[in-house]
Amino acid sequence: MTTQAPLTQKYLEVAAKLTPELDELADEIERTEEFPTRGFELLAESDLLRLTLPPEWGGQGMSLIDYFPVLQEIAKIHGTFRMFVHGQNGMWRLVEQWGTDEQKKKWLPIFQAGNIFTFGLTEPDNGTGRDITTTAVLEGDEWVINGRKHLISWAGEAALVHLIARTSDERGREATCFLLPKDTPGVTVEKLPHTMGCKGGSHDIMIFENTRLPKDAVLGDVGAGLLLGLRGFLDVSRLSIAVSCLGLARKAMDLAVDFSQQRITFGKPISSRQAVRLSIGEMAADIYAVQAAVNDAAARFDAGEPITAEAAMCKYLGLEMVGRVTDQALRMHGGIGYTRAHKIERHYRDARALWFEEGTAEIQRLVIADEVLRHGVTF
Ligand SMILES: Cc1cc2nc3c(=O)[nH]c(=O)nc-3n(C[C@H](O)[C@H](O)[C@H](O)COP(=O)(O)OP(=O)(O)OC[C@H]3O[C@@H](n4cnc5c(N)ncnc54)[C@H](O)[C@@H]3O)c2cc1C
Repeated sequence: MTTQAPLTQKYLEVAAKLTPELDELADEIERTEEFPTRGFELLAESDLLRLTLPPEWGGQGMSLIDYFPVLQEIAKIHGTFRMFVHGQNGMWRLVEQWGTDEQKKKWLPIFQAGNIFTFGLTEPDNGTGRDITTTAVLEGDEWVINGRKHLISWAGEAALVHLIARTSDERGREATCFLLPKDTPGVTVEKLPHTMGCKGGSHDIMIFENTRLPKDAVLGDVGAGLLLGLRGFLDVSRLSIAVSCLGLARKAMDLAVDFSQQRITFGKPISSRQAVRLSIGEMAADIYAVQAAVNDAAARFDAGEPITAEAAMCKYLGLEMVGRVTDQALRMHGGIGYTRAHKIERHYRDARALWFEEGTAEIQRLVIADEVLRHGVTF
């Protein structure tokens, strides 16, 4: 048992206090498939979207080790609240780490004021990562952007999109990160159909038709977009997804354990049956192992070490774990668990989004292999 840092303790109490109202809003989201403004206000007003932002920009400056227990609690409530807290506690990192003084002074106060930032990489007609075909061509003092993105969270609402576009003719080379403000002419946002879980979120299509950005809209160096995205944002974000997997898996396991003690078949609670007890043992061990890996990676990051391999390993282990745990939790509920009579139905659906956010299991393993082949076994 570890002692919690004072800020962790404070924000765990804040999360506990907000939980009843967020639970009610979660039910509303499931009914309406809309994200209520009140949900965003509750998260923003209670600082939960600025826990990791450095104090000079108005945040709490929490280390990953201190912040992750709070994120885990939010992940137990609803997938879309979790997405907000996870996303916004990572999104400031790109401008803060790689921005010029002018870019920091322009964008970080806007972030601090509670505006949404997002990241635009994925494309409908190409694989993720280097395989992008959205292009940015320098014409005089302006970049001209053409192409399509999809599945971009909050694309219509975000004050700023970190847009990754190709600045070389050669496919698979030279991606650059651009700071794209809301309502830039030449950008059309279209809605995708509703998602399976994490209801209420918007994950949109963005179409760029001769979209013009000034020369100084480039973040970092031209051609460094993917490296900057990985180091500035994706490593921490992948680790945060593993934490989100832990929160959701703990919730699913709690529901299953509780149900197994209430549900009587053939005259006994199912928790007394050996097959069910084996399943509970597997779920617990699965969660414990990912927690240990996450603690190690978070401590390394907080100590200033690179964590590209560790973050990808945690994300990979986390997404496999949350798949197994939510499968077992649903099965333990029997057929009634497949209806909306029980919360496990929603958590099962919400868990599946975690497989895709910040890259699939295949991509994580490829990243791990790249790192190991380049640097050896350093963990
Ligand atoms: C809820 C949600 C929110 C999202 N938010 C954002 C966002 O804000 N910004 C953003 O940019 N993206 C976002 N995404 C997109 C997400 O990052 C991608 O869906 C994910 O990275 C997978 O990429 P893809 O969909 O292009 O799959 P594909 O690349 O088409 O992959 C399809 C399948 O093929 C496998 N595969 C593909 N290439 C290889 C390979 N080279 N080797 C082996 N296997 C391979 C994959 O693992 C996968 O199983 C979001 C997705 C979801 C579901």
